[in-house]
Amino acid sequence: MSGIIELKNVSYRYPVGDEKVLKDIHLSIEKGSFTAIVGNNGSGKTTLCNTLRGFIPHFYKGELDGEVMIDGKSMLDYQLGQLGEKIGYVFQNPFIQISGVKETVFDEVAYGLENLGVAVEDIRTRVEEVLTLVKITHLRGKNPNELSGGQRQRVALAAIIVMDPELLVIDEPTSQLDPIGTEHVFDIIRLMKERGKTILLVEHKMDLIAEYADRVIVLHEGEVVLNGPVREVFGNPDYAKYGIQYPHVTEVALQLQKEGVPLNFVPIRNEELAD
Ligand code: ADP
Repeated sequence: MSGIIELKNVSYRYPVGDEKVLKDIHLSIEKGSFTAIVGNNGSGKTTLCNTLRGFIPHFYKGELDGEVMIDGKSMLDYQLGQLGEKIGYVFQNPFIQISGVKETVFDEVAYGLENLGVAVEDIRTRVEEVLTLVKITHLRGKNPNELSGGQRQRVALAAIIVMDPELLVIDEPTSQLDPIGTEHVFDIIRLMKERGKTILLVEHKMDLIAEYADRVIVLHEGEVVLNGPVREVFGNPDYAKYGIQYPHVTEVALQLQKEGVPLNFVPIRNEELAD
């Protein structure tokens, strides 16, 4: 069965820059799955997100080779707006995402639904539901331009979730959140998965990826170098080559192994350490 997203031989070069930033990428993302994308800075994670959302090639021109299929249809056959309804994209920088034209958080979250012409009463219900879900009801009347980075990240997430897209592409949504806020964002993502959404998440917090995600893709210098279920990827001896963090518990276990402590298996989740 083919995935909801299929990339075949995908390479991309930005209009400025000689190097290909994505190189010969093959991916198949199953509907309803939760995939984490990891890799060092500059490995191409955001560029891949831009490709999945259709900003490449619809907005960023450059040179795109290969085929990107969404739901069995070429990315080139969609309009950018159609893709926007299907794919919710939470940007890495919440300062970009906030429209800047709305005076309250409520109006900011309602903005996309207003543009679709949704009835006022339905907008109110949906926005209130999402404000509660994202735990920002107390910010309802605040000016989005006066929020902290972490508050903006939550508002940006709410503004996407309220649109109820089938796919969520989320680029580092917790970079400005404290551990409790971070865990809460992962709980929301888990709920989205339970609702049948397909989720792609760029994130550096490996403990949370190990706990919540189904699969991990490792990008290195524009190439997909590892791609598989969470346990397979974090447990793959090649993972160490790319200089990316391990889940904390895995790091400790590998260190113990190095020091000669016999471990018949390497844990990737905290609960597994107790087994
Ligand atoms: P990551 O998200 O993994 O940090 P990026 O996708 O942001 O990686 O960047 C991958 C490479 O593409 C980097 O070398 C970066 O400098 C380059 N790049 C990113 N955005 C642009 C752009 N708009 N124009 C030209 N080069 C870019």
